[in-house]
Amino acid sequence: MRIDIITIFPDYFAPLELSLIGKARAAGILDIRLHDLRSWTHDRHSTVDDTPYGGGPGMVMKPQPWGEALDSVTAGADAPPRLVLPTPSGTPFTQEHAKRLSREPWLVLACGRYEGVDARVPADAERRMPVEEVSIGDYVLAGGESATLVIVETVSRLLPGVLGNAESAVQDSFASGAMENLLEGPVYTKPAQWRGQEVPPVLLSGDHGAVDRWRRHEALRKTARNRPELLRELAARRMDELERSDRELLLELLEQMPGE
Ligand code: SAM
Repeated sequence: MRIDIITIFPDYFAPLELSLIGKARAAGILDIRLHDLRSWTHDRHSTVDDTPYGGGPGMVMKPQPWGEALDSVTAGADAPPRLVLPTPSGTPFTQEHAKRLSREPWLVLACGRYEGVDARVPADAERRMPVEEVSIGDYVLAGGESATLVIVETVSRLLPGVLGNAESAVQDSFASGAMENLLEGPVYTKPAQWRGQEVPPVLLSGDHGAVDRWRRHEALRKTARNRPELLRELAARRMDELERSDRELLLELLEQMPGE
């Protein structure tokens, strides 16, 4: 997969040299290209922002450098990339969303700063490529760089060959089979005893069926504690697909929830 990132802070992306993503780049699975938006400015101060029309606080990113940057990055392409614009006013970024993006051959991420990018930039880009505005959460960051890191990391680890064990992506929170969109339960490693606490005996039993059941039950319990709305969704949509013991536990947990 090719990913182009346009930003006024290319140095912000040093972490993309590390760990899984660094290795995936070295292995040729990921082709990440960083671009400094200021190289498409034409004034002495490399200006990328200006005051907002209509007044108000802060500055807005000028359309001209963005337009030229996108033209240049996508020039000569056989098929256009998908442009992703991180913004708090975008659609929520979810694991499902990441899966969809991981099937794209080419993404361009445009990092906003100040009060955001002039609205004509995505409107203009949309004439040539699919564009989506994506929010990584209901809070406001200072810039799109950290949101871009989140999106790139989430998408990259889903690419074939990036994770050492592809099975671990299947077992993650929000990603496990009939119980998908649940949180993953607790995990343990050696030693079996630590500071007076023991690993749950079932995990040492060698009984894979019992281990799987325990994991599903713990996932249900954790979801009930931290994200009850996801459990209600599971009950409403996929109750019939659950094994009997999972269904019984789900009903018990739903009964214990406040307001049920
Ligand atoms: N005035 C904008 C608003 O209220 O929607 C906020 C601009 S924010 C200070 C600057 C930049 O940070 C945005 O253009 C966007 O690139 C990024 N950003 C901030 N919060 C974000 C979030 N929750 N998800 C994705 N990007 C975000």
